[in-house]
Amino acid sequence: MLPKWLQRMTWEEFELNLQRCGVVIIPVGSTEQHGAHLPLGTDTFIAKVLAEGASERTGAIIAPPIWYGWSAHHMVLPGTVTIRPEILAELLFDVIGSLAHHGAKNFVIINGHRIVNIGWMQIACEKTQRTLGVKTVIFDPAYMSKEIVSKLGFGPVGHAEEIESSHMLHSYPELYHAERVLDYVPEPKPLFSADPRFQGDTLCYVPSTMEDMRKSVEVAKGTSGSPSRSCREKGKEYHEHLVERLVTVINNMQEG
Ligand SMILES: [Zn+2]
Repeated sequence: MLPKWLQRMTWEEFELNLQRCGVVIIPVGSTEQHGAHLPLGTDTFIAKVLAEGASERTGAIIAPPIWYGWSAHHMVLPGTVTIRPEILAELLFDVIGSLAHHGAKNFVIINGHRIVNIGWMQIACEKTQRTLGVKTVIFDPAYMSKEIVSKLGFGPVGHAEEIESSHMLHSYPELYHAERVLDYVPEPKPLFSADPRFQGDTLCYVPSTMEDMRKSVEVAKGTSGSPSRSCREKGKEYHEHLVERLVTVINNMQEG
């Protein structure tokens, strides 16, 4: 079955599809620099392709993607667009509120922009659950791939690194520029990691400053990690694992 994009439906088709599956997916990403080898829309493309994979199997409706996130630190390179995080929380609240008005009760937000967007999504989800009585979950690829990422031997979560790059290489090969790949592995920061697999003591995440980003800009045009280790086959396995997880989340919601 084809993915059920809301913007392609008539209002009657929307009603029918909502009755059939009862779950709405909202893909959320960013428009921000992803090194020299990946497009600015990478995070949104990732959220979008996962949503499509799960919608094909479950019939879940996919709301139009939110292409913007909180990307203040990536403003160091051109093309990046950042929105104030409270705008993201409010926008999500209004999108969920509108669809809840039309009878939707279960929402899955896919976060393609990793840890940066999470706090604001949590605020929106809590508020919608409390005031609208809907069920809302946040599906974050980094948290939903801890097992498979270790099994595939991927290095730590960075930016435009081998995990994201392998996924893009599999899902959007036409947007992947292998000849422009540059690696930069930053020195580990003491008592800090943004990787959900990290086992040690860590401070909580706060986005970098533009100044912090300069080194990765100078050395690798904005990449942080080793995209030269990207692999299409691994990207496929990673993608399929995440779609499987998403399908389970949707099925669980349908069963209540
Ligand atoms: Zn990204």
